[in-house]
Amino acid sequence: MLRSRMQQVLVQADAVHLRRTLRPRAAAHMQRTFASNDYLGLRHDPRVIEAFQRGLQQYGSGSGASPLVTGYSDAHQVLAEELADWLGVDRVLLFSSGYAANQGVLSTLSEVGMVPVLDRLCHASIYDGVQSERIARFHHQNIEHAETVLRQLKMQPDQTAMLVSEGVFSMDGDQAPVARLHDLAKRSNALLMLDDAHGLGVTGARGLGVMDTTAYRPDVLTGTFGKAFGVAGAFVATDHTIADFLVQRCRHFIYSTAFPAAQAEAIRASLKCVRSEPERRGRLFQNIHRFCDYAAQLNLRLAPSETPIQPLVVGDAGHALQLAEHLRAAGFECTAIRYPTVPKHTARLRFALSAAHTAHDIDALFDALHVILRKEPALHDACTVHEA
Ligand SMILES: *Cc1c(COP(=O)(O)O)cnc(C)c1O
Repeated sequence: MLRSRMQQVLVQADAVHLRRTLRPRAAAHMQRTFASNDYLGLRHDPRVIEAFQRGLQQYGSGSGASPLVTGYSDAHQVLAEELADWLGVDRVLLFSSGYAANQGVLSTLSEVGMVPVLDRLCHASIYDGVQSERIARFHHQNIEHAETVLRQLKMQPDQTAMLVSEGVFSMDGDQAPVARLHDLAKRSNALLMLDDAHGLGVTGARGLGVMDTTAYRPDVLTGTFGKAFGVAGAFVATDHTIADFLVQRCRHFIYSTAFPAAQAEAIRASLKCVRSEPERRGRLFQNIHRFCDYAAQLNLRLAPSETPIQPLVVGDAGHALQLAEHLRAAGFECTAIRYPTVPKHTARLRFALSAAHTAHDIDALFDALHVILRKEPALHDACTVHEA
């Protein structure tokens, strides 16, 4: 019974081009991918790899336990301190993934009366941390609507709202109006939580993401080491009280094996590069501009984004899959993103740029796109902006 219901779900997904596929990749395969979050090209940096290897020799492969038992090493502690210093926050707690960090923070703070109010397009890991049945959320980046939602919340006297947004939105590449969110939070006596998975290391002159240009700090900042840092793992940056409370109560933190100390060493090496090599961001943004210039020449229907995430919104899931397939055949990797990851009828190819791309990689991609769209009029129509 259970299995036949599963089969039914799979068949239905197939019929509307929404079935997901898991594809293994060989180690050598990396050229010409536009589907990786390795924005700074640190995944293959010899210094990061070397730090990982040294850490393995020193600490062994696994951490052996959860952080409160014996899994938390001096390497973890130094990493947490370096991050707190870089971000200018009181404390940093390490988590095994950004998914765990987001879910952990939200579910734990709900225990003491925090009521989350989400930007609609927040990541699944944020949604999954919301405990209440009805999720309060506001239209994407719409501060006026956020204010209305806050005002209409039926809160008990012992409850406090928390606005939650991403810094750079993962499927759209646009940036949150952080100053206005902060201002609204202050006016409304609400807290502010920002997930800057895609901004950290990438945006701002120092690569501090949402923290680069603002003097204030959100109450909670989450970030991952799996994207621009090129490794894996994640963190929560916050004040002493929230950090202490999470250590006491956050189940993801308490009941899950700490990531390996060697990984902490690799992340430290990566952090050093993020801090001291702004030229990586320089190369990345040159690549972004090159990409956007070509896209404009071809009239492509790009979502407005100034970050490495450049979504080509084609609308129909079938078209998105076809285009991804044509690109794959031409030697380029770019993922078709479909419902429910993004709203219905906004299926897209999510191009992710990297400092590791050369000008030639981008030229070659557009040569291929040009050929594909000339041969496939239906795809051409789906991908381009038409003059009225
Ligand atoms: C990738 C991502 C996460 C999850 O981070 P992981 O470390 O990969 O688990 C959380 N939030 C956003 C916005 C993301 O894009």
